[in-house]
Amino acid sequence: VAKENGKNGFRFYNCELDQSLARKLAIENELRRAISENQLSLVYQPKVHLITGEVTGVEALLRWNHPDLGWISPAEFIPVAEETGQIVSIGEWVLREACIQNKKWQVAGFSPLKLSVNVSVLQFQHENFLLVVQSILMETKLEPSLIELEITESIMQNIEQSLKILQSLKNLGIQTSIDDFGTGYSSLNILQKLPVDTIKIDKSFIDEMEYADERPMVKTIIDLGQHLNLMVVAEGIETESQRQLLVDYNCKIGQGYLFSRPVHPAKFEKLYLTKKWAEATF
Ligand code: C2E
Ligand code: MG
Ligand code: MG
Ligand code: MG
Repeated sequence: VAKENGKNGFRFYNCELDQSLARKLAIENELRRAISENQLSLVYQPKVHLITGEVTGVEALLRWNHPDLGWISPAEFIPVAEETGQIVSIGEWVLREACIQNKKWQVAGFSPLKLSVNVSVLQFQHENFLLVVQSILMETKLEPSLIELEITESIMQNIEQSLKILQSLKNLGIQTSIDDFGTGYSSLNILQKLPVDTIKIDKSFIDEMEYADERPMVKTIIDLGQHLNLMVVAEGIETESQRQLLVDYNCKIGQGYLFSRPVHPAKFEKLYLTKKWAEATF
């Protein structure tokens, strides 16, 4: 196409740019109605013990099904929601929905399970965040020990404020985890001071374990977590050899398609009840 346009070769470029901009604007606009029109839902991915296969926790992940645009990945719409500030109300919806679900499972008689919820840095640093968290806990009557908030290393850019929020969460009895660990801004010096409970090794490191010379990095992150008394969770485990290596490196807990994809709540109930490693079939 660019060639056909002759000297005006950048028209092709502009057109692509227009399209991605249009898509972004559509997402921004449509997202406003997503909550009220019930287009959002949560799926749940187990965290499992890497040796016994026991389900030790569960992560809630957001899904958006738009009537015309279809399924839109959080990797696409979360950044837009962060840019526009919509993530604050979306994040509140996610936390409430996830807590309601966890309470339902508890009331139904399943053994209590710790539920992890992803929290964007903008939401985390919002002035109402702690109040929102507390009111959701009161509303749903969920024990604070049954939720964990996953935040990313980007909170370290505003370290004084983040330390206070993390400490307040800890005082409330809520656990915290650093998601996508190793990809962000952590300085080791600050990591030591953070009142967090868990680090989640980013999937990119787990992917790289295919190559022997990348493995010392994973081993080092696991050792670091253990020396700092943090729980270490590996995310994105897809193969048996990755699982085996992680066990050799003394990593206890993991998540990934090897065990289960994120599934809707009814499916999760089955997985959790049977406590088996299982690949969900939709
Ligand atoms: P994340 O929190 O690091 O979640 C892990 C992502 O990896 C999820 O993608 C999950 O479905 C996927 N995953 C898990 N195991 C495997 C595996 O073995 N192989 C592969 N290829 N992928 C795996 P998802 O659900 O598309 O979410 C992407 C990201 O969007 C999340 O990364 C998180 O950063 C963000 N996100 C999702 N839900 C929420 C939410 O409720 N709030 C916020 N703020 N962010 C969210
Ligand atoms: Mg996460
Ligand atoms: Mg992650
Ligand atoms: Mg990730």
